[in-house]
Order: sequence, then C-alpha cells, then structure tokens
Amino acid sequence: MRRALISDIHGNLEALQAVLDDIRRNDVTDIFCLGDIIGYGPNPVECLDEVMRRCSRTILGNHDQAALIDPDGFNPVALQAVYWTRDCLESGPGGSALINRRWDFLGELPKSYLEGDFLFVHGSPRDATNEYVFPEDVYNARKMDALFDRVPLYCFQGHTHIPGVFTFSRDFVSPEECGYEYRLTGEKTMFNVGSVGQPRDNDPRACYVILDKAAGVVHYRRVEYPYDRTAEKIYAIPSLDNMLGDRLRTGR
Ligand code: ZN
Repeated sequence: MRRALISDIHGNLEALQAVLDDIRRNDVTDIFCLGDIIGYGPNPVECLDEVMRRCSRTILGNHDQAALIDPDGFNPVALQAVYWTRDCLESGPGGSALINRRWDFLGELPKSYLEGDFLFVHGSPRDATNEYVFPEDVYNARKMDALFDRVPLYCFQGHTHIPGVFTFSRDFVSPEECGYEYRLTGEKTMFNVGSVGQPRDNDPRACYVILDKAAGVVHYRRVEYPYDRTAEKIYAIPSLDNMLGDRLRTGR
C-alpha cells in the first residue's frame, strides 16, 4: 500500500496539478490531504474541487476552518486572503448545489484521523489544527515530550510548510539530509510532509510525501511547477498581497 500525503495547497492550482501528475506516475493506492486546501492562493475553488475528487481522506486545516468561522491570530495579509477566498467559494463556479456541496465538505472535515499506529493531523498531535511544530522545537524538551506522548507510533502533519522528520531522539532531519527517503524505525516519529502550494524551506518546488507501508519507507518528493504563472495570478488580484506571489519564487 502506497499512500500519497499532500498538505498546505493554499489555492495553488499549478502546484497541485504538478503534484497530482507526479502521483499518477508513482503507482499510489490512495491520497490523503492534511489540510489548508485554500487561503493565500488564487484558485481556492479549483483546488477544493480537485481534493474532493481525488483524496480519499482530508483533514481540516486552520485556513479551511477560517473560511467557515472568523479566525484568531491571522495577520492582515492572511485575513484579507480569507475574506477574498470566502467570496470565491460563495460565488461559484457551478450552481448552488455544487456551491453548497463545497461548503458542506469544508464544514464536515475531521480534525484528525487515526489508522492503527498512524495518526494524521494538520498541526500537531496535541492541537490537531493550530499548533506549529518547527525544526527548532527539538530543543524544547517539554514541548517535544508532550507531543510524543500523544503520538501512537507515527504522526503525519503539515502546517509549518517545512518538510522533515522529527525523531524520537529529538533530531530534526530535513529531506535533503535523509536523501529524500526515511525508513520507519519502529520508534515514535513525526513527519512533516511539507507544502504543495507554498513551500517555506528555501526550495520553491512543491513538496509531498509517499508513505510506502509495506516497504516501511517514507519518500519525500519535490516537484517543479510554473510558480511564475501562479505569482502572476496573485499579482492580478488586489485582495491577495504581492508578497504571497513573491514568496513562491524563493520558497520562503
Ligand atoms: Zn498552511
């Protein structure tokens, strides 16, 4: 069983399509989405439709939630993107039945999914929707202890847009450091699957993971996509700050 794990698409249709093409070429059994389908990017509705079509399970992200209820702690740029995204969802495309189906899909997303030893969340095993787990958190023993206490054996998450592996011995291993391939050790491990639509680890390529359960390996995939095209769309939408396009070129 090979499962693709995608997260933090953020309305970036070019990145999502490139990742779905890569998934098609990689003999994958199913696709899980770990949240933040929308927010920031210029094609929220199109990305939502793709996820509804292609993913067998989807977890609620904080930006998905923000489309439904007013969020706490969003900066002005993110907040403006939320309001613009709501307008897009409200006005279609498609008839009212389809528009309602999209709202229902968002409204019914679960915060986590547990499958045997595998936990899937957007943020962290402690706060499934909102808590960030950054690479530098490995130096925060109390936080790491509290997080690993809630990990059944393996936890897959997104939210920070920084891909990598948090080991039980409190190391952070980036995809480059493990050669884009990490063998499941039998020890508790947290995996950040990275971001499809807005990578922030200085690599502008879209990022996702293939979990090969039978082989016991997690593969990190980086996929080129035409980020200039996405950035141009963002620049053309006044409600989306130009910074949101700039950062796609640098992956920051
Ligand atoms: Zn996100």
